[in-house]
Amino acid sequence: MTGSMLGWLAETGIELPAGTTEQNCLRASKPPDKSVYSDLTRVELIVVHHSATVSGNVALFRVLHRVVFGWDDVGYHFVIGNGTYSRDGELEEGRPLEAVGAHARGHNDRSVGVCLVGDFNSSRPSTLQLETGKGLLGDLMRRFSLGKGRVIPHKEVEGCKTECPGKNLSVKMLLEG
Ligand SMILES: [Zn+2]
Repeated sequence: MTGSMLGWLAETGIELPAGTTEQNCLRASKPPDKSVYSDLTRVELIVVHHSATVSGNVALFRVLHRVVFGWDDVGYHFVIGNGTYSRDGELEEGRPLEAVGAHARGHNDRSVGVCLVGDFNSSRPSTLQLETGKGLLGDLMRRFSLGKGRVIPHKEVEGCKTECPGKNLSVKMLLEG
């Protein structure tokens, strides 16, 4: 990781808890003990997100979600990089697939969260991000026997008020054929 995590957090414009240090961030960037997780026992939905940040990777989102939001771990199960803090199109694992995530309020216990790095209200996903996304969604749909209708953007999750994943990313762009 180049640069400071505090610097990246500051760039998001989100207010940090008082007294947050680079050392806190470094510690929080590592996966937590597995005892914090709840078992994900059913998967009925795959929810697509953008990070709403111009840059990032799993370690940075882990810091944001743990240090700033106070969650147990990064909220997403998978993160697809945009060439800023991981390679363009790189697939990183976030929260283990066996664990309930934190990405779609009210539906976390029945869904998998996939996030593409970027703010897709102001930019577009890269070709490599879409390619990786197609492969990943195909694998997940096969693994959990889900049809295309079970892959939905965050904004279409019942009860969720958000623009995520932005106007320039649709689920259709991530489904093959
Ligand atoms: Zn989202």
